[in-house]
Formats: sequence, structure tokens, C-alpha cells
Amino acid sequence: MSGREILLETRNLTKEYQLKNNFGIRKKQAVHAVSDVSIEIYKGETLSLVGESGCGKSTLGRMMMRLIEPTRGEIIFGGEDITAYTERQMNQVYQKIQMIFQDPYASLNPRMKVRQLIAEPLTTHKVCKSREETDKRVRELMAMVGIRPELADRYPHQFSGGQRQRIGIARALALNPMMMVCDEPVSALDVSIQSQILNLLRDLQAEFDLTYLFISHDLGVVHYISDRICVMFLGKVCEIGDTEEIYKAPLHPYTKFLLQAVPSMDPEKRQKREHILAGEIPSAVNPPSGCRFRTRCPYAKDICGEREPELRSFGTRKAACHFAGGEMPTVP
Ligand code: SF4
Repeated sequence: MSGREILLETRNLTKEYQLKNNFGIRKKQAVHAVSDVSIEIYKGETLSLVGESGCGKSTLGRMMMRLIEPTRGEIIFGGEDITAYTERQMNQVYQKIQMIFQDPYASLNPRMKVRQLIAEPLTTHKVCKSREETDKRVRELMAMVGIRPELADRYPHQFSGGQRQRIGIARALALNPMMMVCDEPVSALDVSIQSQILNLLRDLQAEFDLTYLFISHDLGVVHYISDRICVMFLGKVCEIGDTEEIYKAPLHPYTKFLLQAVPSMDPEKRQKREHILAGEIPSAVNPPSGCRFRTRCPYAKDICGEREPELRSFGTRKAACHFAGGEMPTVP
């Protein structure tokens, strides 16, 4: 990936939520939602954030857009440090980064017609010079996402879930963004509709050279859409790299068990399962010392509790396990 243009980068991005007692007084403890995440997103790629619920993937995605304020660290977008940008400056950035939500129904005002919903970002950012121009752009955007422009005077409830997601995508596209953060955009949809929306996202990416940060817990969906994936566990990056390489030969035990947990009709694959990912995810208030995965890892040795594994490079990939790239210890 070296030599490719970085569009967005995080440096040691961290989010901690201070706990409070019943009287609203701050306790010493904090929830470590995202810890020291340094990743790069290249122009034109799809990078997926994956992991079980509570791993910090949505928090990280929202922090990149400053929808959640980081506790520490930096966010660099288009070469500019936007970590301390004012609201006004961020409004300029929001023309370039947009978000697609899991539940389009909740993100679309039910009292507004589709025409108004799609026109809203255009009028807020004063993109069009006249009402006619706005109307023309709305019709164009509807056609782009596969909704007949004649339906512009309907309300969100008159559309199916898949069509509502298309409306959400049209809204996100209105300002010609460079990047879209897609937070579980198909997880509320039927499987047949999921593939239509994923294909639409791929077509739009090819047409407009879009960069996607795709957040999902569904490894099947992620395999289909991503160029690279970033696996997270308890607020930390375990492994990041090329999707095909990771799916073929994961370096980190957590990635391996996540992939093995994907239901398969293939009896050979089912037989190859070495370990079922079981047990509770440890508390984000008191994460385990050393490697955060060690309480669920069958390979864990003393060193795993003593020293935190660094995110080391293995060719184009990176993994944070003391034994990655070598022989895994034998399971007792
Ligand atoms: Fe398992 Fe140790 Fe590797 Fe962590 S560092 S994933 S506990 S072997």
C-alpha cells in the first residue's frame, strides 16, 4: 500500500469515558472504548472495521468524523490535522466526509418528502443557485441510487428498507464527498437486499472514486466489499491488512477464531475449526494486562500478561501478537 495517497489517518486515537457515581461525581475509573489506534485509510479503497459488538469500531468511525470527541490523539484528513477544528471548520470537512447509518428510517425525518430530504444538504451548504438547480440535482441523485425521480414527493414510510437506504445514500452523495463512513449500512436489511445495496456502493465507488470506511460485524459482507480489513478487540487493533491475505491466513489468533466462527456449509471447513471463540469479552473498565485478548486466547503464555504486544509489520500486514509470524505455542 505504500506509495498510495493517504486520505485519512489516525494517530494514537483514544476515547475514554470517565465513570461517574450516582451523584454525578467523576470516579477514577474510565471505560477504555478505543485505545491508541493509529491507522491509515488510502484514497479510493474500502477499509472495513470488524470485531464483536463493543470492540470500539463504531466509536472509532464516529471519532474520525468528530461526531465523538477523542480523549487523545490526532485525526489527519487530506493532510490537515482536523482534531481541533471548530464547528465552522468541520462544516467544510462534512462536505468531503459523509456518513451512512445502519437504520436509514431513524436518520430520515419522517415528516419530510424525499425531495426535501435529499435537497437538505444542498440548501444547508448553499450548493445550488436556484430552486430549479436544486430540483435537477435531487432528480439526478435519485436516479444515481436507483430510485425513480417521480417518487420525489413521497415520504420515507412509503418506501421499503432497501429503498430508504438508497435515499440515505443519495443524501450522503449530494455534496460530492470524497469519503463515506458506512456504519453497518446493510445489517438491518434482508440478505437479497443487502447484496443490491453493496453492489450500489461498489458501483458508486468506481464512478466517483469514493473512499469507504465500512463498519460491520458481518464477515461475509466485509469479505465482499473490502480491500483491506482492520480487526479490533476491546478498543485495540489486532490485525490490519489486505482482505484476501487475512481471510486466507490470519496472523492474529482473534482474527483466526472470528473467521472460523463464520457459519459454513462446507464440512471440511467445519472440521478445521480448532477453537470456538467463547467466554465473555473482558471489561473495558479493567482491560486485562498485557494482551487484551489473553483471557480468551488458548495460546496465551506468561509473556502475554506481562507485556502488551506491539502492532508489528509482516509485509503489507500488521498484527499485534507476540507469536504472530512464527510458531503459535501449543495449546495445553
Ligand atoms: Fe494470544 Fe498471547 Fe498472541 Fe495475545 S499475544 S493473541 S494472548 S498468543
